[in-house]
Amino acid sequence: MSEQEAADAAASAAAPRKRAAAKKATATAKKTAQAEKAPTGKKTAAAKKSPAGQTAAKKTAGKKAAAKKATAKKAPAKKTAVAAKKATAAKKVPAKKTPGGKPESRESRAKRAARLNEALAEVYYYAHPELDFENPFELLVATVLSAQTTDLRVNQTTPALFAAYPTPEDMAAANPEELEELIRPTGFFRSKAKSLLGLSAALRDDHGGKVPGTIDELVKLPGVGRKTAFVVLGNAFGVPGLTVDTHFGRLVRRWKLTEQTDAVKVEQEIDDLLPESEWTMFSHRTIFHGRRICHSRKPACGACPIAELCPSYGEGETDPEKAKKLLKYEMGGQPGQRLKPPADYPGRPAPPLPSRDPATEPPAGQSADAAAGAQR
Ligand code: SF4
Repeated sequence: MSEQEAADAAASAAAPRKRAAAKKATATAKKTAQAEKAPTGKKTAAAKKSPAGQTAAKKTAGKKAAAKKATAKKAPAKKTAVAAKKATAAKKVPAKKTPGGKPESRESRAKRAARLNEALAEVYYYAHPELDFENPFELLVATVLSAQTTDLRVNQTTPALFAAYPTPEDMAAANPEELEELIRPTGFFRSKAKSLLGLSAALRDDHGGKVPGTIDELVKLPGVGRKTAFVVLGNAFGVPGLTVDTHFGRLVRRWKLTEQTDAVKVEQEIDDLLPESEWTMFSHRTIFHGRRICHSRKPACGACPIAELCPSYGEGETDPEKAKKLLKYEMGGQPGQRLKPPADYPGRPAPPLPSRDPATEPPAGQSADAAAGAQR
C-alpha cells in the first residue's frame, strides 16, 4: 500500500467516529438548549406546586370567595332596604294619595273643596247655627254647654237658664248649685257650671259685661277654646272662621281634604283651601251633613247626595234603601224642615233663604241621594 492509499484508509476509518462525535455534540447542544429553556417552565410548575404558591393561590381564592360572600351578603341588604322603603311607602299611600292613586296637589284639593262646598250649599241651603240664641252672650253660653251633648239638648235647657241669668253679671253672681241644677241635662254639669261662672265673671270684670269680638280675647275666657270662639265670632260677629268640631274633622278627613287630626291644624289646612267668605257657612253645611247623613259609625253612603264627590264612598251602607233608614233629622224632625232661625242682630249673617218650599218638596239631600243610589 502506498502512502496515499494508507492515508485514505485512515481517513475512512476516522469518519464514523467524527459523525458519532458530531451527533453527540448536537445532542448536547439540544440538551443545553432545553436546559436553558426549562427554568421558566419548571419554576412555574414548581411555584404552582410549592407551599408558598399554594398559599398565594389559596389567598387569591379566599379573597374571591370573600368578595363573593360580601356581594352575596350585600344583595339581601339592598333588597331589605327596598322592601322597607316599599313598606313605608305603602303605609303612607292611603292617607296621602287621592282616589286616582297620585299625590294630590293643594290646588286640586282646593278645587274639590269648592265643589263639595257648592254641593253642600245646594243640599243644606238652610244650614245655620243650630243652637238657639238671642245675643252673643247666649251663643257663648250655649256653645260651652254643647260640649259632649246635642244642640237639641242644649236648646231644651237654655230657655230656663237664660230666663234665670240673662246677663253675664247675673250669671257671675249665680248660686253654683242652682246653676248646676239648671244645666244638669247637658252632662258634665259641674265643670260646665264652673266655666260659666268663670267666663261670666271675666266678661263682667274685664269686658264691661260684653262678649269680646276677637279670637285672642275669647280664648282667654274660662272654658272657651278655638272651636267655641269661632262659633261666636262667625255667628254673633260675622267674622269668618271654621268650626272644627267632631263632625267637621271627621268629614274633611273622609273627603281627603286633610289628614290632620289636630283641630288647629285641620282649621289651618281647610282655611287654606277655601275663600275666607266661605269658612263659616262651609262649617255649618259640613256639620249639618255629619249630623244627618255622614255619621261616625254608619255613614249613609247609599243615600248621600254628595257621594259622587266623596273619595270615601262605601265606608258606610251603600244600599239606598238601607241607607235611608240611617238618615237623621236631629233638629227638625221632618226631612227638609226649615228650622226657626235665631233672632238676628248686627253683624250676624242672615240665614240663606230657601230656593224651594221645604213643606211640600223633599229636601235636596233626599232627591239627590236617590239619584246617587240609582247610579250606583
Ligand atoms: S259618600 Fe259616605 S262617606 Fe262620603 S260623604 Fe257621603 S255618607 Fe260620608
